Amino acid sequence: MDQQKAEEYRAILQKQLDELLREAGKTVSGMTDEQENFPDPTDRASMESDRNFELRIRDRERRLIGKIREALKRIDDGTFGICESCEEEIGEARLRARPVTTLCIDCKTEQERQERIG
Ligand SMILES: [Zn+2]
Repeated sequence: MDQQKAEEYRAILQKQLDELLREAGKTVSGMTDEQENFPDPTDRASMESDRNFELRIRDRERRLIGKIREALKRIDDGTFGICESCEEEIGEARLRARPVTTLCIDCKTEQERQERIG
């Protein structure tokens, strides 16, 4: 992949990362406010399940943040856009849709097939 294109992806990834980090910050302060405003036990129960829901979301966000950081590192070392399984270039449409991907569509399809069997 040429340098200019790699920098385009870096900008996309960096923007996603900034947004995720901003959202993560918002969620934490939102949780603190709720705790103060609902002392009633019933509300506390629903607050607990809200919090579990939030934690699940945040777990997914955290993993995505990790993937974005890895993708940025791959841009730095020049391996971005190369399938880590077959070492072919990943199609551009796929990268556009999902810049954090590390597998080309063929390897991804194969991986999902294996997972279904396993
Ligand atoms: Zn591949």
